[in-house]
Amino acid sequence: MMRAMVLEQVKHPLVLRDLPIPTPAPDEVLIHTHTCGVCRTDLHIVDGELPDPKLPLIPGHQVVGLIEKVGEKVTKHRVGDRVGVPWLGNTCHACEFCTSQRENLCDRALFTGYMRDGGYADYCTAHEDFVLSVPSEFDDLHAAPLLCAGLVGYRAFRLTGGPKRVGFYGFGSSAHLLIQIARVMNTDVYVFTRPGDKKTQAFAYSLGAKWASGSDELPPVALDAALIFAPVGALYPQALKAIKKGGKVISAGIHMTPIPSFSYDLLWGERSMSSVANLTRQDGLDFMKVVKTVPLKIAVTSFSHEEANEALTAIRNGSLEGSAVLQINRG
Ligand SMILES: [Zn+2]
Ligand SMILES: [Zn+2]
Repeated sequence: MMRAMVLEQVKHPLVLRDLPIPTPAPDEVLIHTHTCGVCRTDLHIVDGELPDPKLPLIPGHQVVGLIEKVGEKVTKHRVGDRVGVPWLGNTCHACEFCTSQRENLCDRALFTGYMRDGGYADYCTAHEDFVLSVPSEFDDLHAAPLLCAGLVGYRAFRLTGGPKRVGFYGFGSSAHLLIQIARVMNTDVYVFTRPGDKKTQAFAYSLGAKWASGSDELPPVALDAALIFAPVGALYPQALKAIKKGGKVISAGIHMTPIPSFSYDLLWGERSMSSVANLTRQDGLDFMKVVKTVPLKIAVTSFSHEEANEALTAIRNGSLEGSAVLQINRG
């Protein structure tokens, strides 16, 4: 048997249950979970803001652990390999998106900790093709946030096309990693926090922000692009005001409050707005290469396995600096 923090009903806290250890399918691996990062998406699932999660569900899509068993058809991994499991858990390999290098948009994708059980448990299974090797430079605690906060943030940043000046709206788990990668690429980062949140602004400066202030302010110079990490639709018109002609505003979260109406003037001048959805396997491989070359400082607040609800509450309240990670089992 294994211990798992389980979502049995949306809008209710997770409950600790003893469940049978899952058996990997022929093309899956069984992972002994060491750590699992807690993502804002987990909170959206628990809060019932994303449709039709598998229920009961073991959440968690930033899983780090050791492979304990492999299915009979597995060729890419061995027992004892240290791996990570990200959000993209499987795809159909056949739809128009899968067949055009856009598997992140797959019509029948299965997402970890949403449509498949994830890492808030002693063990989890994953399809061998969707498991990533984790760089040895990062211990289990610090590797976990790479698997979504880092990875999806990196995909969003790449979609901005290498800006000279970029704005980050919200400065949590994802943004605090991405700013360090952006700095290495000589991009100046302008950080927007909740108005008056001097503590987070100081944190942003400590990681190399060029400028940090409340999201109700405009930056001192016009930006080439902006990324929205906070799930707040009202930030869209704010970000459009902050960018120059031809600039892009990209939201990195899976859920957002409604975007208020705004004047067409803000979009005029070939400004554009879009979202970033999920990740491809190639994003994962590329990102793990990048992080081997950037000496990332990953700010982690660790919680015990049983404290998953407290970790989710801390994300809801915006009271954490950096990333929240559950310590499930010691390596
Ligand atoms: Zn597909
Ligand atoms: Zn996530």
